[in-house]
Order: sequence, then C-alpha cells, then structure tokens
Amino acid sequence: MQTSFINIENIRNDFPILKRKVHKDKPLVYFDNAATTQKPIQVIESISNYYLNYNSNIHRAVHELAEEATLAYETTRDKIAKFINAKNREEIVFVRGTTEAINLVAYAWARQNINKDDIIVTTEYEHHSNIVPWQLVTKEKGAKLEYIGVDDNGELILDHLDKYLATGKVKLVTFSQMSNVLGTITNSEEIVKRCKKYGARVLIDGAQSVPHMKVDLQKLDCDFFAFSAHKMLGPTGVGVLWARKELLQEMVPFNGGGDMIREVHKYETTWNDLPYKFEAGTPNIADVIGFSAALDYLDKIGMDKVREHEIELTKYALDKLSQMKGIILYGPKDATKRGGVISFNLGDIHPHDLATIIDEDGIAIRSGHHCAQVLMERLDVSATSRASFYIYNTKEEVDVFIKSLNRAKELFK
Ligand code: PLP
Repeated sequence: MQTSFINIENIRNDFPILKRKVHKDKPLVYFDNAATTQKPIQVIESISNYYLNYNSNIHRAVHELAEEATLAYETTRDKIAKFINAKNREEIVFVRGTTEAINLVAYAWARQNINKDDIIVTTEYEHHSNIVPWQLVTKEKGAKLEYIGVDDNGELILDHLDKYLATGKVKLVTFSQMSNVLGTITNSEEIVKRCKKYGARVLIDGAQSVPHMKVDLQKLDCDFFAFSAHKMLGPTGVGVLWARKELLQEMVPFNGGGDMIREVHKYETTWNDLPYKFEAGTPNIADVIGFSAALDYLDKIGMDKVREHEIELTKYALDKLSQMKGIILYGPKDATKRGGVISFNLGDIHPHDLATIIDEDGIAIRSGHHCAQVLMERLDVSATSRASFYIYNTKEEVDVFIKSLNRAKELFK
C-alpha cells in the first residue's frame, strides 16, 4: 500500500476515521479532499490537550495558562511563516478561512483603493469566494470585473490578462494557484511578473495549492495570499491571510473590538500593531493550535513528497479513467501540470446519481458545481463529479473507485 514516495500504511494509521466502515461494512474511500481533508490523531489530540490542560484566553492575562496558550497560538504563526516562506510573521493574519481572507482584502483594501472605471481581473476557474466579493466591490464603486478565460486544456488564456493590463486600469488581479475543479496549476509567477509591469496588485487564492505543493511566497512575489487550514489536515474555522506589511499598515481594520486596539478614547481609537490590528476579539485559539500540529505533520512528510505522491496517484487514476468509454475528463491531461483533483462526467449519468451509487460502495466523492458556476458555464455543463486525493489515498482505492464507476455504468445501461 505504497506509492514510490510515502509510506501510506503508516500515514493511514494516524487517521482514525479511515478505519470506519460506511453503509454497514464498506471501508471508507475518502476522495473528497478538495472539500476538506481528514484529520490525523496528532491534530485531534493537540486540540483536546489545549482544552484539557491549558484552556485560556490569549495575549492579555499574565497567569501561566494564558502564557502557555499565547505561546502555542503565536507559535502557529511562526510555523506558517516558515511553511509558506513569508518574510515577516506580522504579515500572517488569522482568519476563519480563505473566504474570510478574500473578503477582508475586498473590504479593507479594495474599498479604499478601487475607484470608478478601475478594473479587477479574476478568472473563469475561480471558486465563488474569489468572484462574489469582487462583484460586490466593483458594483459599489462603479468599477469593472473582467475574466481571464480558460482554454480547452483547462489552462488560463494569458492573452486575456495582457489585454486588460494594457488598458492601464487594472488595480487588482486575482486567481487561484490551483483550480478546485480542473486541478490546473496556474502559472502564478508569470502572472505576477506581468501584473508588476503595470502596477496591478495580485491576490492569490492558495486554498488548493498550499495543502498539496510547496509554496514560496518570496518567490511568488504577490501582494495578498489566502488559504484554509481544514484543507490541509487542520481544523475548520481557521485560515490565513498573508499580505505585504506595507499594505496591511495602510489598510483599514476589518472588525473593531478587543485586541485590535492600542488606545480607545470616547471618539478616537488607535490601532494595535500588525497583525493584531486585523484580529479583533477572542480568536479561534484551539483550532489555531490544532493547525500547528497539521503543519508539523505535513512538514514531517515533506511537501515535495506530498506532491510526488499525488502526481503518481493522479497519473494512475487518469490512465484508468481515460480508458472508460463515455467518460469526459476535464483539466490538463498531464498529471504534472495539475493537482490531485479529477473532474469528470460519465455518459449520461447525472453527477448526483453517480455520487449516490458509488457512495453505496463506500466511496465519497463530490458532485455538483463545486462553487464554480462560472466555470460550469464555460464547460457547458451544470455539474461534474469530482474525485480528489490526499496523502492517505492509495492506488488500491483508485481501483475500488474504477470498479464502482463500472457498476454505475452497468446500472444505467
Ligand atoms: N478557493 C478555493 C480554490 C477553494 O477550493 C475553496 C474551498 O473549496 C475556497 C476558496 C473557500 O475556502 P473556505 O470555504 O475554506 O473559505
């Protein structure tokens, strides 16, 4: 039970949920990792350890529990900075997830910097969380929202970007580093380079990339970066906004309240230092601490190995799937150009029916629009089925999946 890169058996032993059966006696095959990943025992225990042994609010009190909790919370920030190679820990803001990170930028940066007739550029393969906040801002400001199109291989058409940049009106370009539907890995460095020439700011949605490949923010050189803990073995309710220090300094606070202030007078308030200016109120302490254990877990495996394992598994699955009659596979054909996300349609079977049938065999996949209705429109479908892998998935599970798809095909003959 191994790809050439990681010892999956050892890894699987760390995930209690993978031992459970579904539909009475079917071993769980969890292929819905793009939605959220499972959690290793180390993450679960670190959260209960906090509640059992040092539950306390952070930053303010001087007692021992508060100091322990503050240290654990702030240590996660240091680990994140290292994990994504950010220059400064003050640039790491804890939020609830990618969605909140993007909305924070839309509220606290875009609303101050986007004016009438300015252009914000996004892409046709974005998650709704990287479209709707920009619709809200552009509508409010009388600005325009434009899209970089997707070609038939599932890759961005960068000529579209050039066309918009050439107008000199683009203030922000935003895109996901890995598509949650097509798996496409965006040529992010190239996009950033082009945007820089025109002084456009760049926000990268790293929700699908950070969990699955090495991300180096200093190399990427973007302005804003967002991701979620729950898609990388961590708990729900925690995410990260990274932004350049000088931008965070200029930005207005997103929420007002405790911890984000230095001094409050009747009619005036001064803001706390970064990043606390953007962390109002009691944060999600337990889950930030749990996130720390997730980062340790991924670090121990090594992100290069995670990526190699997924390439091998994706290639294996793509090879098998492409042999199935009547299948339409979306996204790049080359497994090295995509993450472990495979969207497809099988004959005339509706994705929801397909997901329901293979669920009977214990296989959890996602069906629907995957919060990417603009992309569904581009693909001219209302929905797809989506299988997505992570470190604990095996080739044997892919075989079970293929067998189950064949059973579904028989049923719909
Ligand atoms: N962006 C992408 C590419 C995603 O895949 C997702 C979640 O599926 C999100 C953003 C939103 O993440 P969250 O729901 O954790 O805020």
